[in-house]
Amino acid sequence: MTDVAIIGAGAAGCFCAANLGRICPEANITVYEAARRPLAKVSVSGGGKCNLSNSFEDISLEKAYPRGARLMKRLLAAFGPAECMEWFTSRGVSLVTESDGRVFPSSQKSSSVTGALLGEIHKYGVRIKTGCRVASIEAKDKGYRLNIEGQPAVRADKVVVTVGGLSTAKSTKIFDGMGLTLERPVPSLFTLKVPTPVTALSGISVPSVRLRLTGSKIESEGALLITDWGFSGPAVLKLSSYGARFLAENSYSATVSVCWLPESSEQEIRSLLAGYIAGHPGKSLASVHPAEIPGRLWTFILGLAGLDKEARYSSLGDKAISRLCARLLDSSFEIRGRARFKDEFVTCGGISLSEINPTSLESKACKGLYFAGEVLDIDAITGGFNLQAAWSGGYCVAKAIASS
Ligand SMILES: Cc1cc2nc3c(=O)[nH]c(=O)nc-3n(C[C@H](O)[C@H](O)[C@H](O)COP(=O)(O)OP(=O)(O)OC[C@H]3O[C@@H](n4cnc5c(N)ncnc54)[C@H](O)[C@@H]3O)c2cc1C
Repeated sequence: MTDVAIIGAGAAGCFCAANLGRICPEANITVYEAARRPLAKVSVSGGGKCNLSNSFEDISLEKAYPRGARLMKRLLAAFGPAECMEWFTSRGVSLVTESDGRVFPSSQKSSSVTGALLGEIHKYGVRIKTGCRVASIEAKDKGYRLNIEGQPAVRADKVVVTVGGLSTAKSTKIFDGMGLTLERPVPSLFTLKVPTPVTALSGISVPSVRLRLTGSKIESEGALLITDWGFSGPAVLKLSSYGARFLAENSYSATVSVCWLPESSEQEIRSLLAGYIAGHPGKSLASVHPAEIPGRLWTFILGLAGLDKEARYSSLGDKAISRLCARLLDSSFEIRGRARFKDEFVTCGGISLSEINPTSLESKACKGLYFAGEVLDIDAITGGFNLQAAWSGGYCVAKAIASS
């Protein structure tokens, strides 16, 4: 009988355990979990509603997975969103796909997802040992020895490492002495601290902007929310994901350029302003503005362009038009740090993908040692892509162990 130890009862570990238990009933499977209960992060995911996957219809893999897109292509071919949805629905979890592609349980409760996973784990006799933090892994006797904090060590023929994002120095200690290469872990999916005066506009949201990190080609599009600490919203979360390394290397001190009318060319903006001058010559600059830009924000942009909000459109000369046009296309703001995003937070970096067999997710150097989930150098933007990576990886490892 093969002894399989899975380290970490999160999304990837539990999905691997549930599938391995089913397809390989002869394996003796134990999941070791440091926390007091399994699936803690899945429980709070998506604000408690659990955005467990995505239809992947309107997005390329490169845009969804800034790190790991190539490997994800393979993993999704083996176990993609259709298989994921089938897996959960056939276990009694009714699902709903929203218009933006995000997949949730129809109950809008993560407990539907965690319940299905744990039900399957128990059905196949997989043990979950909570309160067991694995301190280190040692290759021993054609297998591995797991040293568990405050408890006797255990032996396993095969080990699956699903410890999640390596966000702290302590979390990487488990790999000490194993000769594995780690891509430096840095945070992803955070909001940006931007000093006053823009924070005076706290509460304003703009449906579509384009953001670019100055000095790089990193950009994102989407809605922007101005908060009392700076910028938030989908465009910012995407930028933090695409620019996770750039921002970390620059100690979260950078400049972000905002294009307030990303759908319009400079020529189109000039025509729009010419239309305001012709159509509303006697009106103040503050009173007529594009529908996409809220009035308070428009007044702020007028200020950035050095224009008096009370001036009449008839007084707008060529130079003023050029200045306003320039600010609408590019308003620069200093980033002074990052802030935690309450709904989701993932780690960019982890075990280097070059060390991993792309089909089995087995370490090339350490046979019988597998990885799945966020511990790998794979991470995604928001939208259910991160959990899908955990399900896909967990499934592929289960299949690989069953056929080894
Ligand atoms: C608040 C929040 C909300 C999120 N919402 C979503 C969402 O809606 N959709 C989405 O796609 N993604 C979401 N994510 C991201 C997603 O939850 C993660 O990417 C995913 O859970 C990663 O799965 P994992 O199994 O790799 O790691 P985890 O789920 O983090 O599980 C790792 C487990 O390993 C355990 N562990 C760690 N070290 C050890 C050790 N040494 N010994 C034993 N056990 C150990 C941990 O306690 C943990 O239980 C969210 C993240 C956060 C923080």
